[in-house]
Amino acid sequence: MSKADLEGSRLALSDDVSAVFDSMVATRRDLHAHPEVARREERTQGVVLERLTAAGIPANPLGGTGVVGLIDGARSGKVVLLRADMDALPIAEENDVPYRSRSEGVMHACGHDAHVALLLGVAEILARRGLGQGAVKLMFQPAEEGAGGARTMIEAGVLEDPTPDAALAFHVWSGIPFGRVAAVDGPILAGLVGFEMIVTGKGTHAAMPELGVDPVAVAAQIITNAQTLVTRHVSPADPAVLSFTAIHGGEAFNVIPEQVTVKGTIRAFDDAVRTRLRDGLIELARGLAAVAGARVEFELFEDLTPTVNDPAVTAVAREAAIAVVGADRLIAPRPQLVSEDFALVLDRVPGAMVLLGAGNPDLGAAFPHHHPRFEIDERALAVGAEIALGFVARFCG
Ligand SMILES: [Zn+2]
Ligand SMILES: [Zn+2]
Repeated sequence: MSKADLEGSRLALSDDVSAVFDSMVATRRDLHAHPEVARREERTQGVVLERLTAAGIPANPLGGTGVVGLIDGARSGKVVLLRADMDALPIAEENDVPYRSRSEGVMHACGHDAHVALLLGVAEILARRGLGQGAVKLMFQPAEEGAGGARTMIEAGVLEDPTPDAALAFHVWSGIPFGRVAAVDGPILAGLVGFEMIVTGKGTHAAMPELGVDPVAVAAQIITNAQTLVTRHVSPADPAVLSFTAIHGGEAFNVIPEQVTVKGTIRAFDDAVRTRLRDGLIELARGLAAVAGARVEFELFEDLTPTVNDPAVTAVAREAAIAVVGADRLIAPRPQLVSEDFALVLDRVPGAMVLLGAGNPDLGAAFPHHHPRFEIDERALAVGAEIALGFVARFCG
């Protein structure tokens, strides 16, 4: 993919974005070849710091492997926060491309490599052009994939000094065809709570179950009964999902084990629905365990609110998107039950998460996120960069 591929894609691109496109693609491919999982983004952090510093942008590490940078305008004004996440996933890449992952078992299978490359391109353009007024804060966030990166950066002060007036983030999306953009108001991604449930019984010989308490049978009952939580305790009008994703317990065919560990996740758009499902599952598990004489313990993690786009800020992003792709290519996809920890930023700062269409079967970009063959149409980088610049221009004035 190079600058020449932008021709004929019906995009209204500035010379600045066309000029940095090749560099953004090269950066994305370099990061793709060197993926790092959550909290281990040291090389990525180094690349970001080096590039921002070279562009004359004051930048510092923040929140472990994160980076914060600030582009200050000539005069004071509104502050825009632009965010990119940096982490890859523990997935073995199956794409056969020159920039294929060189880290065994680690892959940028969610497109965060593209997010970093896009934001670096935007930062370099803004630094070169200069801002008339206001400021742009750059948030390069580690550990988006369920590891609390946004929370760490917020606790480390990313939303202070200066406090942003608006926040914008992109997610490239393989399920949306390239050229299309979604910038919709309200909840766009679900809230989430992850859980680990440990069922403790009493181990015994498989032939003498009466001498023990079988945690396998208890775990099976909990999983089966929990299927009614979503269907019987939540209104059919409220999208929600409860998925069990891992079961571990026992080793031998003739031993009833002492413990079974079950993992899973609950997702919903409504905070109250998420809480009801979470508490309902715990209550149900405790009740069933008690009847059998077993014990159950829960560990909850990443209790995350839904990603909710602020209508006023999203309207600005939409205007910027229309200027790039045209109103006919703006779409409103159905809300998805995946989650994003940018939700925590949007909980504190009015903002928008914009989905950039990056699907293109001709380029092999036809697999879902987190798939070993996940791929994107890299022209989405140019679309996102132009929208970001348009957003900053409109918001800062
Ligand atoms: Zn992901
Ligand atoms: Zn992602």
